[in-house]
Parts: sequence; structure tokens; C-alpha cells
Amino acid sequence: MDFHNTDDAVTRRIKAMSDRLTYLRTSDLYFYNQPVEEILGGAKVRVRGREMGMYASYSYLGLVGHPRINEAAKKAVDKFGTGTNGVRTLAGTLTIHNELEETIANFKHAESAITYSSGYATNLSVISTMMGRGDYVFSDKINHASIVDGCLMSGAEFRRFRHNDMEHLEGLLKNAPEDVSKLVIADSVFSMDGDIIDLPKVVELCRKYHAWLMIDEAHSVGVLGGKGTGIEEHFNLYGAIDIKMGTLSKTIPSVGGYVAAKKEIVDYLRHASRAYIFSAALPPAQAAAANEAFKVILDEPWRIVRLTENTKQFIGGLKSMGFDTLLTETAIVPVLCGEDDTAFAMTREAQHNDVFVLPVVSPAVQEGLARLRATVTAAHDPSEIERAMDVIGEAGKKLGLIK
Ligand SMILES: *Cc1c(COP(=O)(O)O)cnc(C)c1O
Repeated sequence: MDFHNTDDAVTRRIKAMSDRLTYLRTSDLYFYNQPVEEILGGAKVRVRGREMGMYASYSYLGLVGHPRINEAAKKAVDKFGTGTNGVRTLAGTLTIHNELEETIANFKHAESAITYSSGYATNLSVISTMMGRGDYVFSDKINHASIVDGCLMSGAEFRRFRHNDMEHLEGLLKNAPEDVSKLVIADSVFSMDGDIIDLPKVVELCRKYHAWLMIDEAHSVGVLGGKGTGIEEHFNLYGAIDIKMGTLSKTIPSVGGYVAAKKEIVDYLRHASRAYIFSAALPPAQAAAANEAFKVILDEPWRIVRLTENTKQFIGGLKSMGFDTLLTETAIVPVLCGEDDTAFAMTREAQHNDVFVLPVVSPAVQEGLARLRATVTAAHDPSEIERAMDVIGEAGKKLGLIK
């Protein structure tokens, strides 16, 4: 017996999703949530029994499965077990957590760092701890969902500037009352488009209008700068960002999120941000893996060189075939498709030819800008990239995206 009202808004929402999913599944257009059965070497995976080239991974430097990192994780399990005794503030802090935070602070050229159990939780908690009612937060239109959610949760006045449009940002800053706290926040590398925030200009505006600056480095660590330390290195603007946020789940093959900043800011967050105080500490294996991964990046700079070369090959090749890859300059390479169903069909063609790539559709991106969101990593071989581009090219011809 079902006691729910069968025509309320919740029921309608669930039904609409269910209908959409049924359509996609029966049309062989649904490729989300597929389990990877095995990680093979060289950016290859086994999915549905088939060996596929992986072009949807965030492991930009190919560090998943790195022997040194695996070893560090195993040692931490032997030493500390698999869980902690609770939250960091109380009994959950282990020496490995403090080591990790020191490693992050050094890597990010910051005084101090604090970690959280995910990047998503980091943005939610940090933004809503820094900002509150009456304050003003300025966010790029295509910032990551966790930033948007953090801004909404803070209760601050929420202003969105057109993507990477510094004139628009300046206009909004100028219009805000002079005596309020202001925070400007943006992705370093935009997670759906792959382009880079105009940091020099943002920094200039923040100084001019007395705004704090927070940058999300989820996709710039290991990707930007000769040493892979991120966007400040890329623009040679060390110390320009007040709050350098990042995740431990992308280039760093673990899980968790962090903020690197001045000591006072980190101390404030450690005693005021709710995701730190009310959620369990990172498991020892994940903390140790992350700690080792930052060191591997510095010890193996050839990975960054390789990623840069592969990125050039991939973007250059797709562009020369006639694809629109927007303004990407990084390992995130959007292949514009237009309608959602075209992006789904492109995915089907690619995956049927053993190229594991995934579509991003609305509402994650603007309607009409659905795309394959392909990524390239240091683990790819140039000949594999060539093959993947052939497959994507054939699919694009078949679906009329290119000639
Ligand atoms: C992935 C991502 C996050 C969230 O990080 P998780 O550690 O996966 O929760 C935050 N911001 C950006 C820009 C991201 O791409």
C-alpha cells in the first residue's frame, strides 16, 4: 500500500527522470555509472569485458596505481588501520594528517593547509564559513557546482559574472557597497571547458576593490606550471590567492579536499568550518596516498612534460578535423556536440569502438552546448591518442558534426 500522494511534485520529478532514463537506456544512449572491471596499464581499462582507452579520467599525470603511492597507502593501513577515531578536532587526527597538511602547504607555497573529506565538502564548508548574510560573493558563471552550492549556503549576496569576463566582474564589484566583505571565487581550470581563469586581471580587481580571492585548483594541480604546482606558478603570481582550494581526487589519486592559505585563515577554518568539525577524518590510507602523490609529482616532472605534449596533440588533432573544442588549453577537452542526444550518440559511437569517453549535458552545461568531455593524461601513448582521435573523427562525420 502506497500512502504517498501520487501526483505531488516529488512524484512528478521522479517520474520525469525515470521516463528520460528509460528512453536513454532502451536507445543504447546511456553510458553513465558503468563499472570499470580492471585498471590496465597505459590509460587502458576493462569495461563490459572490453579493453578501452580511457579518455574520461581526472588522473592527469597517470598516478592511479603508482607503486610508491600504493606502498604508502599499504604502510598506513598496517600502522593505523582503515579508519580513524572520529573527527579531526577530537580523536581523529593522526600524524599522517599533519604530515599531509604540511606537504600541501609546501607544495602550494602557502603557510598552512587544512584537509576535508572531499572537495565538494571543502567548497561547501569553506565558502559558507568565510561568507555570511550581508557579504557579497562574486562567482564565475560556469564555476563548479560545489562552489555554487557553497555560495548559496552562505546566505551572502550571490553575484555571477559572465564566464571569464573581467569587465563584467569589475562592474559587479563596483556596484557592491563599499563597506561589505567581498569574495571573488573561480575555478582555475574550468571543469567543463578546460580554459584558464584570467588570474592576473582577477588579482588586480580584487586588490582594487578590496575583495578576498578564492581559486579552486581541482584541475590545475599537476596540470599548470612547469612543476605542476598550479595556477600561481603558471602565471608566476605566487602568493596572489588568499584561499587556494583543491581536491585530492584528481591528479592526486586519493579522496579529500583542502585549502592552502595563511596560518590565521587555516586556524579559523579549523575551528569554525563545520565539515571539518562534524565529519570524520580522512582514512589513513587515503591521507598517506595523497601525501606521497604530491612528492611523486615533484620527483617525476617528466609526467608534466608528457601531459603537455599529449594535450597539444589531442587538442590540435581534434581542431584540425573541424571540431569545436571551445577555448581549452588544458587536459580537459570539450568536443562540442550541441543537443544532448548528439552528445549521447557520439558517446555510443566512441564506446562501441573502445574509446571510453563520456558526455556532459544540461543542466551541467548550458542547453545546446552538450559535449563529449574528453580528457587526456600523461599515461596515454601518442599512437593511442591518434587512434582515439580517428574514432571520434569517424563518429563526428557519421553524426554530421564535421565533414
Ligand atoms: C571535482 C571538483 C570538485 C569536487 O572535488 P571532489 O573531491 O571530487 O569532491 C570541486 N571543484 C571542482 C572544480 C572540481 O572539478
